[in-house]
Amino acid sequence: MYNIAIDGPAGAGKSTIAKQIAKRKGYIYVDTGAMYRAMALFLIESHVSPEETEKISEKCLEADISIVYEKGEQVVLLNGRNVNGLIRTEQVSNMASASSVNGHVRKKLVELQQKLAEKADVVMDGRDIGTCVLPNADLKIYLTASSEVRAKRRYDEMIARGEKCDIDVIKRDIEERDYRDMHRDISPLKQAEDAVLVDSSDMTIEEVIEKIMGMCRI
Ligand code: C5P
Repeated sequence: MYNIAIDGPAGAGKSTIAKQIAKRKGYIYVDTGAMYRAMALFLIESHVSPEETEKISEKCLEADISIVYEKGEQVVLLNGRNVNGLIRTEQVSNMASASSVNGHVRKKLVELQQKLAEKADVVMDGRDIGTCVLPNADLKIYLTASSEVRAKRRYDEMIARGEKCDIDVIKRDIEERDYRDMHRDISPLKQAEDAVLVDSSDMTIEEVIEKIMGMCRI
């Protein structure tokens, strides 16, 4: 199996890039953030708040999260229900960031991710793929960009979807999430020692794809 791990902070362009690389190489794209988001949705729907650590540890065991592929797109199933359309809200983003610090949540989702990578060539993106989920990945990329650029990209996406938003609020949320992701005890976001750093602040999507494609050995 050939595994590519792409880690980095929120809004760095990981999913856009990973999806394109998977398509060009004929690999499967695995969006691990979507799994943390599905778990977060489950917790929100179960009326658990981000501060209730013990309840999160207990409740997360009841969530059955799985991944299927429909027309080449990853579909996240939460207890059998397609939740793709429900997991991109700011409320879910914030809950995902808060609940992903929980060891029980992480153990459950990391096992699922490792199983997927055992069965197929994958491009997997997240926060701890190169450091924890796939420590032996064939290629590891740490994709980042300045918080201003990342906030602007999120803002443009939301405006394009016709949503109302405030760029300063988005930037603050991104910085808070980065801080939590980088400072948590279990599997914090950091560049793996053998990962290649790619700063996309001044690069186009195509330039980033070309750069990473050039690093793939097969
Ligand atoms: O990548 P995305 O923004 O969809 O991820 C949502 C949240 O899930 C992140 O802020 C992070 O807290 C968590 N996450 C994680 N480990 C991963 C992927 C996502 O902790 N591998």
